[in-house]
Amino acid sequence: MGPYGGVEAGGTKFVCAIGTNPDDLSAETVFPTTTPQEAVERSAEFFQAHGGVSAVGIGSFGPLDLDPASPTWGHITSTPKVGWAQANLAGALRDRLGVPVAIDTDVNAAALGEGRWGAAQDLQTFVYLTVGTGIGGGAVVEGALLHGMMHPEMGHLRPPHNLADDPFPGICPYHGDCLEGLASGPAIEARWGSPPASLAPDHPAWDLEAHYLAHALVDIVVILSPERIILGGGVMQQLQLFPMVRGKVQQLLNGYLTVPAIIHSVDTYVVPPGLGGRSGVLGAIALAEQALSAADTLAG
Ligand code: ADP
Ligand code: ZN
Repeated sequence: MGPYGGVEAGGTKFVCAIGTNPDDLSAETVFPTTTPQEAVERSAEFFQAHGGVSAVGIGSFGPLDLDPASPTWGHITSTPKVGWAQANLAGALRDRLGVPVAIDTDVNAAALGEGRWGAAQDLQTFVYLTVGTGIGGGAVVEGALLHGMMHPEMGHLRPPHNLADDPFPGICPYHGDCLEGLASGPAIEARWGSPPASLAPDHPAWDLEAHYLAHALVDIVVILSPERIILGGGVMQQLQLFPMVRGKVQQLLNGYLTVPAIIHSVDTYVVPPGLGGRSGVLGAIALAEQALSAADTLAG
């Protein structure tokens, strides 16, 4: 049995890796996201050029069709990204390589990776939220990735938007001022006129950012009751955000939840990823492992 292939399919780049765990990655490649056909072909060629893989896991941007019974399973559905609406990712790669392929959202894959090897080991219910070009959340609930009707879309939560304090209208093409529209990296850049990485740690942008993120976290806490929330993505490289978000989460909950995780140990409740920027691709490898064991079960 060969090693697993992991694909982190992003709107700007694809990352492919071969291995079985964080300490056993034999090869990795990164290429820009062009067309779906080219991305599938380049991923397949990479896996074949390195001796092949026994199964592939894909953590992808979306929205995605994840219904195994659907004829368009493994397709990206309604993305505004040119050339990618209705793109067949998982089925095309499976047909091309002839091995089991699993697909999930990029953030569900990252959550899986963090649960397996990162900041959520031994937890049964937790959330991974990325704050980057977009905002998205993946969840493991009672030990299993959460899909439900399709998959969570936590980036489109609607935090209260006080136009007197923050006249910026937001940039989500569907909602304007949803969480992603107000608090993603491109939203910060559009509001303040400079890339977020160039804003000083004491710039007012960060207090506002923490405000929106804390509102989203409170919604996530009261709905899913997670044991921990992991915040990743480029914007969270601003580490000063962590104490700000934690404090605001406590403030907004206002003593209502008397659990020790929030009252006494909020520092270990809202945390950065244990796998740094590698949660997604490692989670994709964990998905591949699941794909193979599911295929073995089916084969009896
Ligand atoms: P993606 O979401 O495209 O997968 P990232 O998670 O790296 O990629 O997010 C990219 C976003 O994060 C961009 O909007 C970028 O401006 C922002 N970003 C990257 N580095 C930093 C930084 N050090 N501080 C604040 N924002 C950053
Ligand atoms: Zn939105």
